[in-house]
Amino acid sequence: MKTVVKFGGSSLASAEQFKKVAAIVHADEDRKFVIPSAPGKRFSADKKVTDMLYVCYAKAKAGEDFSQELKLIKERFQDIIDGLELDLSLAEEFSRIEQDFKDHKGTNYAASRGEYLNSLIMACYLDYEFVDAAEVIRFDDSGNFDAETTNQILSARLEPLERAVIPGFYGSRESGKVKTFSRGGSDITGSIVARAVKADVYENWTDVSGFLIADPRIIDSPEVIETITYRELRELAYMGASVLHEEAIFPVRREGIPINIRNTNAPEDNGTWIVESTCQKSRYIITGIAGKKGFCAVNIEKDMMNSEIGFGRKVLQAFEDHGISFEHMPSGIDTLTVFVHQDEFADKEQKVTAAIHRLAGPDSIEIEGDLALIAVVGRGMKSTQGTAGRIFSALATEHVNIKMIDQGSSELNIIIGVADEDFEAAIKAIYELFVA
Ligand code: ASP
Repeated sequence: MKTVVKFGGSSLASAEQFKKVAAIVHADEDRKFVIPSAPGKRFSADKKVTDMLYVCYAKAKAGEDFSQELKLIKERFQDIIDGLELDLSLAEEFSRIEQDFKDHKGTNYAASRGEYLNSLIMACYLDYEFVDAAEVIRFDDSGNFDAETTNQILSARLEPLERAVIPGFYGSRESGKVKTFSRGGSDITGSIVARAVKADVYENWTDVSGFLIADPRIIDSPEVIETITYRELRELAYMGASVLHEEAIFPVRREGIPINIRNTNAPEDNGTWIVESTCQKSRYIITGIAGKKGFCAVNIEKDMMNSEIGFGRKVLQAFEDHGISFEHMPSGIDTLTVFVHQDEFADKEQKVTAAIHRLAGPDSIEIEGDLALIAVVGRGMKSTQGTAGRIFSALATEHVNIKMIDQGSSELNIIIGVADEDFEAAIKAIYELFVA
């Protein structure tokens, strides 16, 4: 059995956290490949090392003195080394980094040093081999991740190794220039490694005991989701629920490798399993609820719209011509509504309105802003009757007016549109209905 384990920044913020991580790794000998993030925050007002590196490099790039910023970064790593009583010196690494900063080696290179140095420490502490991500994670010349080349190089490199530490977050272009993924990208590295070594499980260790059914800022201590499918996760992540980087599911998904989200500070908790498919029913009809504020609805009316071929295409053309992507498009007999992000749309609304008139000739257009969309997601809804009806009545009891409801044909999710000001009340009502 092979398990790939990725540890997030808060799991590696201090020597104390490193000790917890080592205990977790040693507790199961299948935990053979370890992907560290850079040290995160030790307390809420603390700084993440990655952020410190960005600031430090910005000074270097502007030709300013960055010695103070670099000193603080050195101290973060030295504290960890001292706390672990390791016989390791990063002096040479830091003088190279200092020189590279002076030579303006790039923002991506600078940001990647947090993972690089933390992984050197981890490899030394666990006595595992260190494999630099710049050697094995490949981006093409336009900066896009090259999945297949990476998989070839990485699986060949890791094949003879029993155990290894590989830094998260970065790789390199063919030219050797370091390139990072977007923020939080160590999750992606973990998934790429899991695919390359054909792992049985990809464990992603963080500081929460899994995915929560709803946002804890709205619901007091929501329950943890035990098992969620990749598709359900996509729906929830798209609506703003975040624990795992959005792109992290793709490499493991193609190999059918499950992801287990775990809590470094509570390793006894089972966490959340993210799987391709399961016959296990979720404990409740719904798996999770997520949502976002700040949408705008563009209602377009035209008599006999239903019999006019190409009307929808012409309307969408007006949005496309102005570079606006749409989120949902529920329609009635003589009406069609297009939901868009308000911040993208606000500046262009009059131009888009004129374009719809020109292209599609509607009778009237009405725009309504400050709307929220809520996704109620659950594979259990397919086999249950009356879910939408129950949501309707629960929201009516709370005096929440439903502006829109849209059920995907997969019956995996129901999207509900409400006024921004009703957002929290609506989520609470739905949570109460199905979970509490
Ligand atoms: N250290 C990087 C960040 O702060 C990447 C990661 O932690 O996954 O975004």
